[in-house]
Amino acid sequence: MLEKVLIANRGEIALRILRACRELGIQTVAAYSTADRDQKHVRLADESVCIGPPSSVDSYLNVPAIISAAEVTDADAIHPGYGFLSENADFAERVNNSGFVFIGPSAEVIRTMGDKVAAIREMKAAGVPCVPGSDGPLNPEETDRNLRMAKDIGYPVIIKAAGGGGGRGMRVVHHERTLLESIAMTRTEAKSSFNNDAVYMEKYLENPRHVEFQILSDKHGNAVHLGERDCSMQRRHQKVVEEAPAPGITDKQRKFIGNRCAEACKRIGYHGAGTFEFLYEDGEFYFIEMNTRVQVEHPITELITGVDIVKEQLMIAANEKLSIAQKDIPFRGHAIECRINAEDAKTFMPCPGKISRFHAPGGPGVRVDSHVYGGYTVPPYYDSMIGKLIVHADDRDTAIRRMLGALSEIVIDGIRTNLDLHRDILSDSEFQRGGLNIHYLEKKLKKPAVL
Ligand code: ADP
Repeated sequence: MLEKVLIANRGEIALRILRACRELGIQTVAAYSTADRDQKHVRLADESVCIGPPSSVDSYLNVPAIISAAEVTDADAIHPGYGFLSENADFAERVNNSGFVFIGPSAEVIRTMGDKVAAIREMKAAGVPCVPGSDGPLNPEETDRNLRMAKDIGYPVIIKAAGGGGGRGMRVVHHERTLLESIAMTRTEAKSSFNNDAVYMEKYLENPRHVEFQILSDKHGNAVHLGERDCSMQRRHQKVVEEAPAPGITDKQRKFIGNRCAEACKRIGYHGAGTFEFLYEDGEFYFIEMNTRVQVEHPITELITGVDIVKEQLMIAANEKLSIAQKDIPFRGHAIECRINAEDAKTFMPCPGKISRFHAPGGPGVRVDSHVYGGYTVPPYYDSMIGKLIVHADDRDTAIRRMLGALSEIVIDGIRTNLDLHRDILSDSEFQRGGLNIHYLEKKLKKPAVL
């Protein structure tokens, strides 16, 4: 087992990692910025080290400072959480080369899966269904070939940057008139944003749902899937509400896609927790990308399967075998997560500030993953998520009612939040029916509210 883990993150995920370490008897080191001295996990950790000023570039993205913190505290592993350096292959390499365990897959696998063209190639080889598209990057000189390809795939198509992320570096093309210039423009943007001008083409799916599969894979050749999550409630490609299982997905589909993902993990030598993201339309799954880290929405999968994903990450990193076999993983009931942000209800702009009062909801099947407390000041330097409200119940209708109950109980005073948006979504009859596509929330927000 690992003896001491340095947590290179902040907020609710830092606390989540700390809790998992405690249960496994692992000592913790909180690496924090000067803006985060009052974070719950900093107070609870066995040791803490300040790694720099508030700006992420100087702290949570400051590789030498993080590695020095691990050295001075004699930690044996570093958990990157999500965001920040979690999917940075160079960081994983530096951690390993400095003699620490990076809690996640190898730098090489992170690098491969971070290149979407390479990732798609691997997935196709593993029999995972992908979006019809170009086999590899486009050569802008081969104009006839590119025009023919788009015609064969059928418009609309989407041009995507191989190194893209965060919903950037993509352009939808509806007509052959604009294809060549769109390829050129996406390349220029990709070069300046991601320092990689490779772009590829895919069929643009018009009304898909976002359905993703959670996997765990150890260093002994074992890999399992923990089913899927539906994350179609998005605004500007940011997930707002997630649920598991995805409404309408059959056991047969879950088993088929889940097993393909687990097989793909064995093939690429994947170690740790990971997520395969798919677009789902008309009963078909299309792989779009893999996330090589723990996801914000991992708790809903934990609630329906009873598997502690963060503990499994720690155990895999310690060279242990997975604690569960596929046949022993149950899918029980329904779970929903609402991401709570400190933001303005109308403009969606972040609204940091001091929380004067905080009361968490409770009762059976209610989980709150949050680092905030009454008197805590949300700093302006990082993303606006201040916690996650998660419920689990026997079925989807009860889970929705349970979430509405929890949303009516929770009190966060002093700052503006998106709690009303969640109340609105969970009360929406279309949402209650289930199976909405990724455009639904944006369309709903554009409609004037019914008074
Ligand atoms: P990123 O790494 O930037 O998140 P993704 O490849 O995951 O990029 O795509 C982000 C989002 O863009 C998807 O969730 C989906 O909304 C949209 N998208 C990507 N590819 C397609 C496609 N082929 N058809 C329709 N929408 C797509």
